[in-house]
Amino acid sequence: MKPLIPYSKQWIDNSDIKYITKILRSDWITQGPTIEKFEKTIAKYVGTKYAVAVSSGTAALHAACFAAEIKPSNEVIVPTLTFAASANCVLYLGAKPVLVDIDYETGNIDVNEIRKKITKRTKAIIAVDFAGHPADWDKIKKVAKSHNLVTIDDAAHALGSQYHGQKIGSIADLTIFSFHPVKTITTGEGGMVVTNNKNYYERLLRFRHHGIIKKTKIGGWFYEMVDLGYNLRMTDIQAALGISQLGKIDKFIKKRRAIVKKYNKNFQDLPNIKVPKEKKGSICAWHLYPARFNLQKLGKTKKQIYDFLKSKGLGVQVHYIPIHFHPYYQKHFGYKRSLQPSSFDKLRTTGPKKGDFNNAEKFYEEEISLPLFPSLKKTEIDYVVKTVKNLIRS
Ligand SMILES: *Cc1c(COP(=O)(O)O)cnc(C)c1O
Repeated sequence: MKPLIPYSKQWIDNSDIKYITKILRSDWITQGPTIEKFEKTIAKYVGTKYAVAVSSGTAALHAACFAAEIKPSNEVIVPTLTFAASANCVLYLGAKPVLVDIDYETGNIDVNEIRKKITKRTKAIIAVDFAGHPADWDKIKKVAKSHNLVTIDDAAHALGSQYHGQKIGSIADLTIFSFHPVKTITTGEGGMVVTNNKNYYERLLRFRHHGIIKKTKIGGWFYEMVDLGYNLRMTDIQAALGISQLGKIDKFIKKRRAIVKKYNKNFQDLPNIKVPKEKKGSICAWHLYPARFNLQKLGKTKKQIYDFLKSKGLGVQVHYIPIHFHPYYQKHFGYKRSLQPSSFDKLRTTGPKKGDFNNAEKFYEEEISLPLFPSLKKTEIDYVVKTVKNLIRS
């Protein structure tokens, strides 16, 4: 059954379609000038020197890890509460992702936990701006600087978010964005890496295109493959959609922020529910609305809450199943979970058992993302509010 209201969806209008059509009828539908135009527009928007468009946010993470020269002997710090791609990119380079617990308030990586996990092998820190809330970048950069580590911002949720007056993108050494339809702007599939570092920029360009560099001094046709790269290119058709979408980003963010404000106004005084809050110095583009339900006080299981909201037509989602829950990571790196699958069906009398990633497990168990996207109608917002209030009072 199709849910009435999904947790997220794209906004595509006639201006997008018109621009895509124009590019479709042009000479270049890939490797053309529209890609460069999209890259320049994004770089200008976030305030960086360079931007490299790629085929997905995952490809952007892969390319960023290559640019940072992550080697098989390296370890890379990654928060456990994120999408698998944030850690998989480290595996693509043959290195080891070292998982770290989160701050329970924001869902972002806990900087004190980062410090404990740094070894001689550590090469980089990947932090996620969870739900669009900037990670604690001042502290992360300080730790990174004192250990000579590269900072990579997985800002798949945070295009347009700001941290102490600076746009996300201009803060870490390398920042990646995703343009999947659920994200702030879309190109269908697509991603971008932004940086101020010329060496990283050149490595990104090579990596996107088979590891090949042109050597036209030798001959107009001549090129050499100097690294193992891939075809990670975005098409000009997608870039056209991206340019058109970026023109609407202020409107998108304004609408997202207004919906979050309305949800918060309605939910923040209710017992048993915890709402996302913006920390001082941050302006969030809010990709998600991660509501957290106090299962003990509600006397309900996670499954009951999720199933209830689904049965009422809310296409809710859970963000995220922690990385250390995935069998692949358990098998290859020995990570263990303390929260067991059976517990989602059990009524809690106490909090979750203490494990290595206690905050992430607690966050995951309590979290359900409510519908949040710019085209959400007033009647739909009211319906979400009413449904959640009914759940809490039932
Ligand atoms: C969406 C997402 C990605 C991957 O982006 P794709 O464009 O789907 O490949 C990576 N990290 C996070 C945190 C995401 O939400």
